[in-house]
Amino acid sequence: MLFYVQGSGKTPYELKATGAGETFYLACSCPAGRKTGKQCKHARALLMGEVTALQEGSGDLVELAKLAAGSSAIAEAMDRPLEKMPHRPPEGASCVKSLYEVGCPLIDATDLTPQYSEEGGDWKVRRLTLHERWRNGNLKKGAAFELTWEEMSGDVVVQADGSLAYENVKPRARPYVVRGKSMQTVTRKKFEDAYDFLIKAMAKRG
Ligand SMILES: [Zn+2]
Repeated sequence: MLFYVQGSGKTPYELKATGAGETFYLACSCPAGRKTGKQCKHARALLMGEVTALQEGSGDLVELAKLAAGSSAIAEAMDRPLEKMPHRPPEGASCVKSLYEVGCPLIDATDLTPQYSEEGGDWKVRRLTLHERWRNGNLKKGAAFELTWEEMSGDVVVQADGSLAYENVKPRARPYVVRGKSMQTVTRKKFEDAYDFLIKAMAKRG
């Protein structure tokens, strides 16, 4: 499978994917890729889903993610993320819900299973959770990571009659919340920034 990435030169570089899983390899025609045989920034970017420089005639990214899943190339790409380069959400994914519907090669390349849920109680909540599985295939309790969009925020207060009510309910300035089992919760104003944080947090996972 071939991919064409516009680099600094006139002609796009050609990346060739061969093998699958442990035998997966992505070779690039750029000088760094040819000379060292090591993973160049183009291969790393492609494996991390950064595809803004991708040219027409390129192969299917979902297919690429499937072939690369479990490979050392993915591990290396996640281990050495491109400096300063944010991970952009897949095309068509502009919110938590569409991210789940469109699917995400970077999430698919992990062993995590995505689930989606919505709440429409006092205010709207849309939640994408990523779960680890036990060996028998059952989902582990509690999500390893969670990307949530929460419309409002408020304080829970106990009324005189013992019932609960909300106070200070207002739209959230930073409605995107990223949580994880072994990380501090962060909030972001924009979906793109929350997505970037989620992917980086996943990459740090041991
Ligand atoms: Zn290259």
